[in-house]
Amino acid sequence: MAAGTPIPPHSPTPGPPSVPRAEGTADVLVVGAGPTGLLIAGDLAAAGHDVTLVERRAASVGNLTRALVVHARTLEYLDARGLADELVSRGHRVRELRLFGHATIRPTRLASRFPYVLVIGQYEVERLLERRAREAGVTFRYGTEVTGLRQDGGGVEADVRPAPGGRGRSGATVSDAAREDGSARTVRARYLIGADGVHSTVRGCLGLPFPGTSVIRSIVLADVRLAEPPSTPFELDAIDNAFALVGSFGDGWYRVMGWNRDRQLPDSAPADLAEVRDFTRLALGTDFGMHSPRWISRFHSDERQAPHYRVGRVFLAGDAAHVHSPAGGMGMNTGLQDAANLSWKLSAVLRRHAPTALLDTYERERHPVGTMVLRTSGSLLRLALAGNAPLRALRSAAA
Ligand SMILES: Cc1cc2nc3c(=O)[nH]c(=O)nc-3n(C[C@H](O)[C@H](O)[C@H](O)COP(=O)(O)OP(=O)(O)OC[C@H]3O[C@@H](n4cnc5c(N)ncnc54)[C@H](O)[C@@H]3O)c2cc1C
Repeated sequence: MAAGTPIPPHSPTPGPPSVPRAEGTADVLVVGAGPTGLLIAGDLAAAGHDVTLVERRAASVGNLTRALVVHARTLEYLDARGLADELVSRGHRVRELRLFGHATIRPTRLASRFPYVLVIGQYEVERLLERRAREAGVTFRYGTEVTGLRQDGGGVEADVRPAPGGRGRSGATVSDAAREDGSARTVRARYLIGADGVHSTVRGCLGLPFPGTSVIRSIVLADVRLAEPPSTPFELDAIDNAFALVGSFGDGWYRVMGWNRDRQLPDSAPADLAEVRDFTRLALGTDFGMHSPRWISRFHSDERQAPHYRVGRVFLAGDAAHVHSPAGGMGMNTGLQDAANLSWKLSAVLRRHAPTALLDTYERERHPVGTMVLRTSGSLLRLALAGNAPLRALRSAAA
């Protein structure tokens, strides 16, 4: 759905409160407290369902961010839940993006209440969604991981255990008993959602492959301060052997991300500010006087998609279902839109307001969207990486 098509307000009509359940059971078990899992869990709990969310990480949201943009359509979904204005007030509204030297993209033409790209740390999105999920009554189990699952006609049984080194941040965890006697235990739910990211255990338990390829390696990102910031809040440019983007978070921090064809190293090789300065100078002509990095990381990027998003009572959403390069800033956005598509359907089926066949429409609608996002992101990336003259000419024409 394009930005602008009205999204009805998300106004769950809770039925009678869920019958209190035995410890270790839930209507829905969500695996993974990233943005995707947090939105699904919050939607379902707001609709009156009994939701347990299991997260391997010990603590909740940190302050490092992978995603840095939220697009108009995602803001419209958050708006339908009464969440957009708060997020927008914390982010930086970017109304002009400069790409490849010549092109200026102005989202101001979008027919949306949010005619801009919101630059904001992923952690702000997660904090907001976590708070909303807690208020709606989701039972959080940090420091706990799912290791296996089985399903039958009536539900799904997941094996959970304390995550290595994990220690729940608050409240008792499903695995408290396990902590004492060292044993794993199970949680039973009517449905399970695998929002457990790119290395999804749930996907593995379903026996689903994750076909695709690695498309780029040795991308380096850094969050830095700039002594001489650029005139536009978001700039991306590329030359033959390098590309770089600089985006402002709006609070004095800048995300710099880039790549240098002549410096291809494994993810484990440390990256430093000198390397970030180098590729920024190559691609953008200056390093903007960058200093004081709070985070520098080297990573590679894959393009992969699971062949199915549903197997019986188990669903995949977000990075567990699809992954692509950061080009276009679409990963978190796509996961949040998967979540918004699935949660109301699952609620309607749990309440017996709709036949279970409605659940089939989740994969039918979201799988093609995932495929399209992989293609779009892949095309943008290939343009940025263009190493030969015809491709660079195509890039200029496209710009
Ligand atoms: C450099 C970079 C820049 C990016 N920029 C953007 C951008 O601008 N815009 C955008 O939309 N996207 C962007 N993305 C992508 C975005 O970060 C991801 O798409 C998003 O985090 C996916 O959310 P998720 O909830 O599906 O998965 P995740 O955020 O990966 O969350 C999965 C969670 O599951 C937990 N987990 C895993 N296994 C288990 C288990 N067995 N049991 C319990 N818990 C488990 C993990 O600890 C994790 O917390 C970027 C990514 C990168 C790397």
